[in-house]
Amino acid sequence: MPIYEYYCNDCGKNFECLIIGNDTPKCSNCSSENAARLMSACGFFSKSGTGETVGTSAGASSCSGCSATSCAGCGN
Ligand SMILES: [Zn+2]
Repeated sequence: MPIYEYYCNDCGKNFECLIIGNDTPKCSNCSSENAARLMSACGFFSKSGTGETVGTSAGASSCSGCSATSCAGCGN
């Protein structure tokens, strides 16, 4: 079951939410549904394999899993 991390745009807190199907995440702090998903997979890029930071060679992408400059665009 996928547990995603979200950033609440209303109160600025991060929270984790178990999402089943098309559930809408709700902030655990303020119950807002105005939240953006954080791609936890993007956190792997700095500690994958060689110990060197990958994904920075292009200088533009912050995510090794996608070409976007923001992890919000990462579908992985
Ligand atoms: Zn909130």
